Amino acid sequence: MRGEIISVGTELLLGQIVDTNARYLSEQLAACGVSVHWQVTVGDNLERVTQAFRTAMDRAELVIASGGLGPTSDDLTRQALACALGCKLVHSEEAWHQLQRFFLQRDRTPSEHDRRQALIVPGARILPNLRGTAPGLQVEGPAGHRIFLLPGPPNELIPMFEGQVLPSLAHNGMVILSRYVRMVGIPEAKLSERLDDLFASDNPTLAPYASSGELYVRITVRTEHVPSGVEELDKMEQRVSQRLAPYVYGRDQDTLEMVVGQLLREGRKTLSVAESCTGGRLASRLTGIAGSSDFFLLGIVAYSDESKRRDLGVSDALLAREGAVSADVARAMADGVRALAKSDYGVGITGIAGPTGGSLEKPVGLVYVAVAGGGGEVKEYRLTGDRGTIQERAAQQALVQLWQLLRDKEKNG
Ligand code: AMP
Ligand code: MG
Repeated sequence: MRGEIISVGTELLLGQIVDTNARYLSEQLAACGVSVHWQVTVGDNLERVTQAFRTAMDRAELVIASGGLGPTSDDLTRQALACALGCKLVHSEEAWHQLQRFFLQRDRTPSEHDRRQALIVPGARILPNLRGTAPGLQVEGPAGHRIFLLPGPPNELIPMFEGQVLPSLAHNGMVILSRYVRMVGIPEAKLSERLDDLFASDNPTLAPYASSGELYVRITVRTEHVPSGVEELDKMEQRVSQRLAPYVYGRDQDTLEMVVGQLLREGRKTLSVAESCTGGRLASRLTGIAGSSDFFLLGIVAYSDESKRRDLGVSDALLAREGAVSADVARAMADGVRALAKSDYGVGITGIAGPTGGSLEKPVGLVYVAVAGGGGEVKEYRLTGDRGTIQERAAQQALVQLWQLLRDKEKNG
């Protein structure tokens, strides 16, 4: 099936916002086996949006438009589709009821403008919007085209697509199943190299992604039979995991802190952390896990030299000799917090998050992470990015170090 995506909105043409909807929809459609041949971006102009629909219907069987469904006068997508189909919009009681309910639940009443959102192409199926006012529409085109109009805001579009469009695309009883394999500490080039032949696979398909210091691979399978689809996913996951074993930490919705927490819990081990440049981000991620009190004992943000000395017992001499951002101070912080909390493991993080405060010798992004206990070690990182990114990456590296240590411990008994 050929697909076309139409993004409606002058703000897209002006470069004021990035068209993340098209990216998302293309990715989703590719995974369902729909060939997207065209992505079109068009401003809020009745004539041109109408033209975009006409053209799309000439060259695609599936057309998905996003944006322009709101209550304001520049929201013209419904009307443009009606023009392209040669019909007139009609008021829908069903859509109007949904709209009123949405407002009622928020102690508001819809205005005359809002009523426009209850106008539909005759015969359209109404796709309820759980997060906003404008309902989506599914319309059948002249030659059996399937046309979907979805709201512009991604937090409305995504649940509507996943809840109401995707299931109806899985035609002929086809369903789409997917699985994520999550990895850390692997360069992107290495991942591509090791999985190159698998990326060529057509069903299941494999796609790599990178986000905040992690890489993951999504495996997607189209199947008519769920159990055999799951088997296909298992098989492919196994192949990926075998080839990249030292880097794979989890699957699907797993997070690194969840896996670290699980390993600590299983080993009946406890953890405390002393953070400087990350300002508590590591503690925050670890305590974000339900039940973290099983293993997490103490977190200290020791930002000043005075606090490192007084609270963690880092010696004056060491601070004077090596400076606060040094491997030895990171180690001393880890040892200090571990002793204070009487925990099995301690983590110390010190570094320069920037944007100022770096020097030739110790540039912005220089970070040391130490793990004390169980043969943990100190590592040096040269991180890049703005202040928040460096802080995030430093906390991430601490979790990576912890995970690698705990996993090896488990492996070696
Ligand atoms: P609209 O439905 O056209 O009124 O769009 C409402 C809001 O949704 C816009 O102001 C944008 O913030 C967002 N939006 C619309 N289209 C897109 C798109 N293609 N990608 C990402 N965000 C979008
Ligand atoms: Mg708009």
